[in-house]
Amino acid sequence: MGTYDIAQICREGHVVNTMARDYPESNEAFCAKCGSATVTACDGCQAAIRGHYHVPGVLGGFAFDRPSYCQACGAPYPWTTSALAAAADLADEADGLSAQERDELKATFPDLVRDTARTQGAALRFRRLAAKGGKGAADALRSVLIEVVAEGAKKALWP
Ligand SMILES: [Zn+2]
Ligand SMILES: [Zn+2]
Repeated sequence: MGTYDIAQICREGHVVNTMARDYPESNEAFCAKCGSATVTACDGCQAAIRGHYHVPGVLGGFAFDRPSYCQACGAPYPWTTSALAAAADLADEADGLSAQERDELKATFPDLVRDTARTQGAALRFRRLAAKGGKGAADALRSVLIEVVAEGAKKALWP
């Protein structure tokens, strides 16, 4: 079967090169979109970030799906951490929510960014709380979370 190339991604999550191993001439030290440094490995365990999946005899084919977590150690990648921190800041500014509801909203995030048995329940709570928080907060949360939430959560949250 195929092999994974290495992905080069900026710390804010912009994908710079999905074939950093085979086409290193396309690598960049910094992101052209946001100026952040780029990485090709997990900060924690140094495992390479999986890039384009090469299958012999197949050109192109598989769309690259930016990972949220390291497949080798389970640590969140920098863009995941950054999106969750931004979402927590937004939750703290949601006018329509009490302090307890803000905490409940933030507590749903870890179960939204990975598919677990709790993801659907977390999605329901998120929808209820984000709606109560106000349209501005709900829209802002969507924009920072939509790129990092798991597929199952994305369908439940923003069908
Ligand atoms: Zn960037
Ligand atoms: Zn790792």
